[in-house]
Amino acid sequence: MKYDVIIIGAGFGGLSCASLLAKKGKKVLLLEKSLHSGGTSSVFSRKGYLFPMGPLGFSQPQRILNFMEEIGISQKPTFKRTHYQLKSPALECIYSVPFEELREKLRHIYPKESRIDDFFDKLRSTMSKIKDLDKWHMDNKKMNSIAQYAHTPGNEILDSYFSDVTLKNFLGSMGTHPSRMSLLNLSVMWHLMAEIGIWFPSCGIHGLIQSIESSFLAFGGELRLGQAVQEILLKGGKAAGVKTADGDVLESNWVVSNADTKKTFLELIDEKNVSSSYLKNIRNAPYSESELCVYLGLDPSKVDWKAMKTRHLFYRHKLDLRKRFGLTDFANREIAITLWSDNLENLAPPQKKSLVLRVGFPFGHFSDFWVGEKKRKPEYQEYKKHLAKAVVQTAEKILPGLGSSIEVIEAATPLTYKDWGNRYQGSIAGWAWGVKNKSTTGSRLLIQTPIPNLLMAGIYAASELFLGGVPTAVHTGYTAAKFICRKKGTAPF
Ligand SMILES: Cc1cc2nc3c(=O)[nH]c(=O)nc-3n(C[C@H](O)[C@H](O)[C@H](O)COP(=O)(O)OP(=O)(O)OC[C@H]3O[C@@H](n4cnc5c(N)ncnc54)[C@H](O)[C@@H]3O)c2cc1C
Repeated sequence: MKYDVIIIGAGFGGLSCASLLAKKGKKVLLLEKSLHSGGTSSVFSRKGYLFPMGPLGFSQPQRILNFMEEIGISQKPTFKRTHYQLKSPALECIYSVPFEELREKLRHIYPKESRIDDFFDKLRSTMSKIKDLDKWHMDNKKMNSIAQYAHTPGNEILDSYFSDVTLKNFLGSMGTHPSRMSLLNLSVMWHLMAEIGIWFPSCGIHGLIQSIESSFLAFGGELRLGQAVQEILLKGGKAAGVKTADGDVLESNWVVSNADTKKTFLELIDEKNVSSSYLKNIRNAPYSESELCVYLGLDPSKVDWKAMKTRHLFYRHKLDLRKRFGLTDFANREIAITLWSDNLENLAPPQKKSLVLRVGFPFGHFSDFWVGEKKRKPEYQEYKKHLAKAVVQTAEKILPGLGSSIEVIEAATPLTYKDWGNRYQGSIAGWAWGVKNKSTTGSRLLIQTPIPNLLMAGIYAASELFLGGVPTAVHTGYTAAKFICRKKGTAPF
């Protein structure tokens, strides 16, 4: 049987694309390697706790609601805003507030910095130019008009306005690190954090996945779980189907890959079908790095929560900016502490809470432990436990009693995100955002590929910070579906 479209991967990107195509009457097969859909937006359970594989919230909730409307989901969630707090020896503030309020706060904290107003005016002016970027980012002419911002390093701008390092770092990274972003990404980042907000849906992020999946199935789509695609097949230079790890050959007119760009081009396509220059660009493409994540199920009555004023706290215990921090010197690193169970009932058993502690880590720190898919050297488990304990010890400095409150502990490393998340080297947040790491493909949206009839959908199908993770995945899935329908002369969206 020949399908109209085969989609590789049932993350937000693949599912969104699949449900829209199925609604348009296409014969769609969705193949997912894992035994569940949702990709990195899924949750897993341990002793009555539900922990997140990936997202803790996302921006642009209205876009998700619009999409749900489009695929006929009538039961829509409400959204609760998530707030963010930084606590370091040099600066403590809640920063998910309207930009004007933040300006006031910083004026008060840094009275000697005379150019706070000027800087905010500059950022505001850039923000006003990109606030509806999602509506016209396919328009090259308009994109060229903001290209200068993509080439301007944020740290150079900050250096020209301020002298206080902690202020520069805060405005440049929302944390304690020097900015590596372009002025454009800095503006998008503050626009999302301060103006649009980061939100959590009343059905949970995994609940959104379930709704989209149900809608796909209701439109007659076919979902096969536990079906890894091994190869994308080409006929006459065009994508024409896939071969699964079980050896099944499945034919289609179109293939959409929700696997990330590197996995798609470096692992699923015979390299003789792609120009060497494009492959080189994909190989050199910079991805965001991975992380160490510690999941805790706990008895909240044993913890002193005073310091935690929001659900998300970025905590740095020591601020030694002179030397480059050691990766395992957790006291001198930022730890993202999230009171995950406060997002929703049922994420923890009654009277319990759960915390998620996250610290950025490169894949290379763990790669020697990897001996095959889901296989590790024996010493890996001990090392992981040791690191998890060290992260908890640092977090306990701000949450006294944390250590003795723990009832469940689990940890994920870049190897987890590689093997369970199926992401290239466990990368978590899409392409790298650094100004020096500009797209090597010369294009910000990578939905269309050099291979005819092969499209991309998902967070890695946009090479620049754009809408934030989940909405980018949905948007690219939507756009890929639209592209296919236009080509086939289906009624316009
Ligand atoms: C730790 C972590 C934290 C994050 N935090 C946030 C956050 O707070 N906010 C936010 O918006 N985003 C966050 N993200 C990004 C998040 O992953 C995305 O927003 C969203 O889940 C991306 O969806 P996607 O469809 O692009 O990719 P994925 O969720 O990765 O889906 C891709 C799917 O393809 C499948 N697949 C891959 N290869 C194959 C193959 N060969 N055959 C079959 N199936 C295959 C995978 O198994 C997976 O199910 C986070 C990610 C991680 C890992």
